[in-house]
Amino acid sequence: MTKPKFYLTTAIAYTSTKPHIGNTYEIVLADAIARFKRFEGYDVYFQTGTDEHGEKIELKAKEAAIEPQQYVDNVAAELKSIWDVMNTSYDSFVRTTDKKHEAIVQKIFKKLYDQGDIYKSEYVGLYCTPCESFWTETQAVNGLCPDCGRPVSPKKEESYFFKLSKYQDRLEKYINEHPDFIYPESRKNEMINNFIKPGLQDLCVSRSSFKWGIPVTFDEGHVIYVWIDALTNYITFIGYDPDGSSEQFNKLWPADLQVIGKDIIRFHTIYWPIILMALDLPLPKTVYGHPWLLFDNDKMSKSKGNVLYADDLVKEFGVDRVRYYLLHEIPYANDGSITRELLIEKTNNDLSNILGNLVTRTVSMANKYFDGVVSNPKVTEEADDALIQSVSSLSDEVVQKMNEIKVAEAIDLIINVLKKCNKYIDDTTPWALAKDESKQDRLKTVIYNLIECIRICASLLAPFMPETSEKILNNINAEHTSFEDTKTFGLTADGTKLNNAEIIFERIVEK
Ligand SMILES: [Zn+2]
Repeated sequence: MTKPKFYLTTAIAYTSTKPHIGNTYEIVLADAIARFKRFEGYDVYFQTGTDEHGEKIELKAKEAAIEPQQYVDNVAAELKSIWDVMNTSYDSFVRTTDKKHEAIVQKIFKKLYDQGDIYKSEYVGLYCTPCESFWTETQAVNGLCPDCGRPVSPKKEESYFFKLSKYQDRLEKYINEHPDFIYPESRKNEMINNFIKPGLQDLCVSRSSFKWGIPVTFDEGHVIYVWIDALTNYITFIGYDPDGSSEQFNKLWPADLQVIGKDIIRFHTIYWPIILMALDLPLPKTVYGHPWLLFDNDKMSKSKGNVLYADDLVKEFGVDRVRYYLLHEIPYANDGSITRELLIEKTNNDLSNILGNLVTRTVSMANKYFDGVVSNPKVTEEADDALIQSVSSLSDEVVQKMNEIKVAEAIDLIINVLKKCNKYIDDTTPWALAKDESKQDRLKTVIYNLIECIRICASLLAPFMPETSEKILNNINAEHTSFEDTKTFGLTADGTKLNNAEIIFERIVEK
C-alpha cells in the first residue's frame, strides 16, 4: 500500500537578522507535526527556508559594506544552523535567491500580466529620500522616517498591481465552504469581516525604488516586490512551472498544512489563495496561524534587551528541554511566554519530576528486585484497570489532538498518563510488596504494567523530544515502538532484560 502524502511548510524566514527563540517556535512546531505524521505512516515532505529579497536586506548589506548576496548567504547559513540545533527534520531548506525559483517567479509574473491579473499603475507612498525608502502612514509616525527620523514626503512610483478585487467573492465563498482552510477558526471571521467584506485593495507587486529583487522580465528597472516572489516558494521549489509542472508537484500539491505566524495570516489566507486561483491551482487544505512566544509576556526585541536565542538555551539546557518548553507552553490560539526561570521551573516539574522520575524509579526497581528482567504473571488488581485503559486509548487521543494541531494538548495527554503512573506506584507500594515473599508475582505485574506505560508514552513522545524518547526506549530495551505498537498494551515480551537505570532529566538547580 502506498503511504498517503503529507506536504507541510513553514513560512520562509526573512533574512534581515538572526532569529530569536520566538522566531524558532514555528520550525519546532512544524517539525513536531512532521515527525508525528511520519510516525503515523504518512509520506511527509517538510519544507522550510528563507525569504532573501527586499529593500531592508539591500540596506543591511550596504551598512555591512558587503554584497546583498553575501549578506543573505551569511544569515541563511546562521538560520539553518539554528534549525539544525533544534533537531528539526525538514526535507528541504529553500532560499528565494535560488536561480530556478527566480526563473519560475518571472514566468508566473509574466503569465499573470498576460492574462490581465497584473496591470501597471502608480504607487503612492511616503518617501524618505536619504534612505530611498517608501513607508506607509502607520510606519511613518508623525511624518518621520522610522529609520533615520527625517521627514518623509508623498511620492508616486510606477508599479505593477495585482487585481485582488477580481477574486474577492470567489475567495469569500471558498473560505465559507472550507471550514478547515483557516485555523484557528477565530481568524477566519476576522479575515472575512475585517478585510474581505470591506473590499480588497489591489496589491502592489513591483518596485523600482530598489534593486535587490527578481527583475520583471518585460520592464527594465522594476523588481518583483515580495508577494509573488515569497509566497510562491511553496510551489516553485516542488516543481511548479506554468509551462508544465513536475511529477513531484503533482504528487505534493495542494499542501496539507501551512504553518505560519499569526502576523502574516492575512497574506496567507487572502493574497496567497488569490495568487493560486489566478494560476488555476487548488488551495492548501489548512493554513494555521500560530500564536507568538513572548518574553515574560512582552514582545522580544533587541532594544528592550529581552532577547533569548535558541542556540544559547540549547547549550545551557539541552535541545529537548527547549523543544518541550516551546511545544508544551504555547497554547493553540493564545500567546505563550518564556523566561529562563519559567523554562527551568516547567521542565524540572514535567521532565524531571514526572517523566524522569517515573522511568528511573521503575527501571531501578526492576533491577533491584528482578535483576532487570520483566515478566507479566498477570496477578492483577483493580488499580491496574484504570491505568491500562488510559494508556491503551492514549494513542488515538493524541492523534485527534494532533489532527487539530493542538500540540500542547497532545503532550498534556501523555504527561497525564505519566502522572497516573507515578500515582500507581504510590498506590501499589512496590517496596512493601518486595518484602512479602507471597507478593512476588504481584510485584512483577506492577512493574510490567509500568514498563508498558513507559514504552507507549516514550514512543508517543518521539515527535516532540526525539533524543529523550530514544534514550528511554533504549533504557527499557523496548522492541515494540512503531505507531501501531502504541495502540496495544502488553507487547513487551516476558524475559525482556532492561538496561541499568539512567537519569533522564537531571533537575536544574540555580546557583
Ligand atoms: Zn530615512
